[in-house]
Amino acid sequence: MATQAKLCSSCGFGSDEKRCVKCGDPFGEVPAVLCSNCGFGSDENRCIKCNDPFGQIPALLCKSCGFGTDAEKCVKCGEWAG
Ligand SMILES: [Zn+2]
Ligand SMILES: [Zn+2]
Ligand SMILES: [Zn+2]
Repeated sequence: MATQAKLCSSCGFGSDEKRCVKCGDPFGEVPAVLCSNCGFGSDENRCIKCNDPFGQIPALLCKSCGFGTDAEKCVKCGEWAG
């Protein structure tokens, strides 16, 4: 079961909220996901950029990074998260 990847309030501040977490493209629109290992327990809310434990902003991928099956791969380890 895939978990929504998150950013903390600093990493997802302002326009960074929509920035692709993989390539930095400013037009992220596909939700980034974590596999069941990377998003296990309290890691579910860990910021995927700085590891802050209080992530609350949904991390996004741009259209290219989240194209097709890439949208269902863990942004941390690349494992299948679907
Ligand atoms: Zn991207
Ligand atoms: Zn952060
Ligand atoms: Zn993973």
